[in-house]
Order: sequence, then C-alpha cells, then structure tokens
Amino acid sequence: MDRRQFLCTLAAATLSGAATAAGATACSSTSVGIATAAADETTTAAQAPARSLLPPPPTSARVPLPGGGALTALPGSGDLLAITVDDGVNSEVVRLYTQFAKDTGVRLTYFANGQYASWTDNAALLRPLVESGQIQLGNHTWSHSDLTTLSKSQVVDELTKNGKFLRNTYGVDAAPYFRPPYGKHNATTDSAAADAGYTVPTLWYGSLSDSSLVTEDYIVSMARQYFTPNAIVIGHLNYLPVTHVYPQLVDVILDRKLRTVTLDDVFIRP
Ligand SMILES: [Zn+2]
Repeated sequence: MDRRQFLCTLAAATLSGAATAAGATACSSTSVGIATAAADETTTAAQAPARSLLPPPPTSARVPLPGGGALTALPGSGDLLAITVDDGVNSEVVRLYTQFAKDTGVRLTYFANGQYASWTDNAALLRPLVESGQIQLGNHTWSHSDLTTLSKSQVVDELTKNGKFLRNTYGVDAAPYFRPPYGKHNATTDSAAADAGYTVPTLWYGSLSDSSLVTEDYIVSMARQYFTPNAIVIGHLNYLPVTHVYPQLVDVILDRKLRTVTLDDVFIRP
C-alpha cells in the first residue's frame, strides 16, 4: 500500500458517516492534498458534538414513594441514577458542581447544611436550576449533628431551621426528603423527623467516598463501582478533587446509558 492508499484507508477507518464520504472524495486529489484533507477531517471528527446525557423520564412515569423505611435505591425500568451530594463545606465546590450541572444537564439532588456560607454565596447561580427542577434540595440538618445523640425536640429544630433557610433562600420545600448526617438514624429520630414533615430518610446504595480528601482516581473508581442502574449514590460538596473529574463521571454515565434523576423526577410527593 502506498502513502496515498494508506491515508485513504486511514480516513475511511477513522471517520464515520458523512465524514467518510468527504474523506473518500479527498482521496481523488493529489497525495499532498490528501494528507491535508485527512488531517482536516480528523480535526472535524474530534470536534463532533459531545454525546449528551439522557433526559429525565416523563412525569407520567413517576411513582408513589414506597414508604416504610429509609430510601436506598430507585424503582423503575433500570436506567435511573440518582447522584446526591451533601454538606457544602467548600463554597467553590458548590459553585463548580452547580456549573457542572448547568453545562451538562446532569440532574442532582443536594442535601444541604444551611450553616455553610456556600448556600448563600451560590444562591444566584443555583436558584434557576432549583426552580427548573434540575437540582433538587433536600434537608441534611442545619449543623450536621449525629441525630441519634440529640433529643427529639433538637432533631425537630435541626430540620426545621434548615428547612426554613432553604425555603427562604430558594423558595422550595425540601420535605419530605432528609438525609441524616453520617447516615445515623433510628426509630426515635425518624419519628421526630416525621413530626417536622420529613418522612423519608434518604440513604444511599453506593458512595464516591469523598467526605474526606481522596484522590481523583479513587473518586472515578468509586463512580465505576456504584454508578449502576437504580442506584442512589452519595458524594460531597466539600473537597475539590471531584470537580476535576466531571468528564470521567459523565463518560461512566454515558457508557452505561444511565439517566440521571432527582428524587422528584422519580417519586410523586405525598
Ligand atoms: Zn453530610
């Protein structure tokens, strides 16, 4: 095979659809022209529009909340993924996660602790996404205390104060979804939370394991492990490494044909 044939074959092998036809046309010109055309076509292929995330399921597919205990997974047809991210210790991470949602359309649920300035700092950026339903806000208590160490009235106060903050700042009601800090809850805390309107302790199936500082590679490996159909996955708005691996997280979601959802995308509110 001479250089010209090689370039034509290379173009045909690496280009798809219309680009292949263009490459074939280029192969009728001179060798020099072919080399240029092949390089141009390769550039065009590299600039093809990025794959986009699947939209949420239709409203008609929503189901009643199962009730009767903590929520750890999603029901449904098998392509749903609920990415839920918590706390908000670092304002820059809240900003970058929200920008990630804005840029890609990924649907997220934030379990916020209103004590952190991040929720006020980023209100202007975040509010439109909350209003459109792309990002849902859940209640993670005001001060991130282990609820099992508190009295019933303290549990009510933690959730009520945080719920009021979220309503005043974003105009939405986080109830009935709450996530007990550290996942720690029991019949007493669940009963107190229900008294405050929070009837759904929302736990998780898998974790990005980034509540403390871990490496970017580790976070991607956790995503590969836990971004699976019907999973509720927990991550954190606390440390920067996750904000450096958004393309890798999107690749896992796209490769597995998963559909990111908020809890409100899946369940009918009681
Ligand atoms: Zn937390």
